[in-house]
Amino acid sequence: MKNECDIVKDLLFSYNDGVLSETSNEFVEEHLKNCESCNNALKEIRQESGEIEQKKEIDAFKGVRKKLTKKNIIISISLIILLIIIIFNILVFKNYNEVASTMVVYLEEDITNEQLENIEEKITQNVENIEITYVSKEQELEEVKTWLGENTNVLDVYNNSENNPLLANLEIKANTNKEIQEVVEAIQGMPGIRSISSYINWNPYELFVVEKFLD
Ligand SMILES: [Zn+2]
Repeated sequence: MKNECDIVKDLLFSYNDGVLSETSNEFVEEHLKNCESCNNALKEIRQESGEIEQKKEIDAFKGVRKKLTKKNIIISISLIILLIIIIFNILVFKNYNEVASTMVVYLEEDITNEQLENIEEKITQNVENIEITYVSKEQELEEVKTWLGENTNVLDVYNNSENNPLLANLEIKANTNKEIQEVVEAIQGMPGIRSISSYINWNPYELFVVEKFLD
């Protein structure tokens, strides 16, 4: 039997893989019925090949997982960046809509009541539901002082109305910056106006940076 065992053992790998011819297959099976040594060899082969298969599967699984993780990270980062861009833009345009719907009209020192009335009339004629607040230069000075807080003594020299360097003005609040645009166009160059300050021509991004970070 010694010789036959050698032949069978040579064939066992192929037998295990199921690639033997029918005749060889029958020969091996017939031999295995009576030979413990060859049966043990076959058991070993089956165990080994089983472990190899398992390892292959695990490696393949790890590969898939690695690929998935890498892909997921890229997708997640892209989504986060996209979200940040969207939120940033919402904040920028919300800020623009709030800030650019206000303006200040600085008035000449020697403005007459009639000129002031004309200006106010022109504004309300053009835009409905607009909020106009007259701020005298004394009020303006007080405002600047509150603004400066403890550093107000800088302004002590400007305490009376004789030497107040500030200008009386109209603070105007509309609902939209389009309305502010209309007001600016309507009152530009009217007598009694020194200057108009509005944010309508500002770039929304620039305005956001100035308002939120430099203020
Ligand atoms: Zn044998």
